[in-house]
Amino acid sequence: MIEKCLGAQRSRKIQRALRHGKVTVLCLVLTLVVLRGTIGAGKFGTPEQDFNELRDHFYSRKRAEPHRVLEEVQTTDRTSSVDDNPNSYNAFDINKILIYEGDDEKPDPDKPYSLGPRIFDWDEQRSIWLIENPNFSNFVRPNKPRVLLVTGSSPKPCENPVGDHYLLKSIKNKIDYCRLHGIEIFYNLALLDAEMAGFWAKLPLIRKLLLSHPEVEFLWWMDSDAMFTDMAFEVPWERYKDSNFVMHGWNEMVYDDRNWIGLNTGSFLLRNCQWSLDLLDAWAPMGPKGKVREEAGKVLTRELKDRPVFEADDQSAMVYLLATQRDKWGDNVYLESAYYLHGYWGILVDRYEEMIENYHPGLGDHRWPLVTHFVGCKPCGKFGDYPVERCLKQMDRAFNFGDNQILQIYGFTHKSLASRKVKRVRNETSNPLEVKDELGLLHPAFKAVKVSST
Ligand code: UDP
Ligand code: MN
Repeated sequence: MIEKCLGAQRSRKIQRALRHGKVTVLCLVLTLVVLRGTIGAGKFGTPEQDFNELRDHFYSRKRAEPHRVLEEVQTTDRTSSVDDNPNSYNAFDINKILIYEGDDEKPDPDKPYSLGPRIFDWDEQRSIWLIENPNFSNFVRPNKPRVLLVTGSSPKPCENPVGDHYLLKSIKNKIDYCRLHGIEIFYNLALLDAEMAGFWAKLPLIRKLLLSHPEVEFLWWMDSDAMFTDMAFEVPWERYKDSNFVMHGWNEMVYDDRNWIGLNTGSFLLRNCQWSLDLLDAWAPMGPKGKVREEAGKVLTRELKDRPVFEADDQSAMVYLLATQRDKWGDNVYLESAYYLHGYWGILVDRYEEMIENYHPGLGDHRWPLVTHFVGCKPCGKFGDYPVERCLKQMDRAFNFGDNQILQIYGFTHKSLASRKVKRVRNETSNPLEVKDELGLLHPAFKAVKVSST
């Protein structure tokens, strides 16, 4: 407000000066002062060099504009050869700049795989650190655990032309949820351990983050192909006070049936404690790519229900670990099915309109799912398990379904779940701070303001 008023005063003064023809004289004097100042201070070198540089600078600035216009004209004239134009992104092959950096270091085949040096006393180390470092100013969640949401994707561009656009939508979606809930977010683009490429990459990453962020109480892993579809739902943290590891799933399907889809590892909560480090160590051995992963895949297909033939994946390995060592881990694992910590997209996406018709955000379950996960779509890959058109169309719908809850805070909504365009749902007012937040979606800090002003 104050800045705007000062700005208005300034521009009125300039207008007056212009009318009185004083500007020309002022400019001349200023230019002389600046030129003398720079040359006199010897900023660029000898006075002659300075002059040449200044002249070149002004000359190239002047020359640049017509040059660019000429090029644009040429480009539109010769559309057939647009692909030869070095300024065109159209046909540029990204592989040209992805230099070959040599083969990855070959692991020693006789050495068993390890995520890192064994740590035995993380709980003590961490509690000492917490006493010594009592201020965690980044976290604004009274009575809620400090949570770090972790996601990521391959360091390379996607293998199809739209994949990166969907990664962008997916991270925007997560940033929105995290901002509303006071959760920190980490996006990983580095393969920390070449042996653990692909879906196994999350293991070394999670271990590193737990150890580097002792202030974090729960780490929330979320796949890049999973999106928040309920921006208002808060995880029932209290329910997990005795658990270290929370996944969507069903006890019977994991422990009795050993079904490979009895749980899902695309979205899970892991407590920052020694137990979790031990779990990661027990989870990792089937991960190293190549022979180990291939052979382990055969074991998993043989031992688990309905599992197709393919190399070992982190999800099957977790079902197998829990089913074979329930005594060791089961007490601290919570398989959640009361809401969709992960929700399989196939059973949700065609029902979004029905949900909008009958329910409201904040429920998190089949009525308004917290997460819609596009398992098997491989939006960043070359080839998925489902038709690409259905995957991309439904990913857009899921994004818009969640994004509507964000846009509505600002008075907008998507024209339809299929539309990138938005429309107004609330008119601008001259008292913007009095707008009621109908969905109760505002950040807790904003809510405090609202309460105190009523
Ligand atoms: N991922 C990664 N780096 C990679 C490849 C995958 O971080 O190089 C992550 C990414 O977040 C991805 C997840 O691993 O979503 C699991 O893979 P995907 O979602 O394709 O498996 P699906 O859920 O279809 O079984
Ligand atoms: Mn996934």
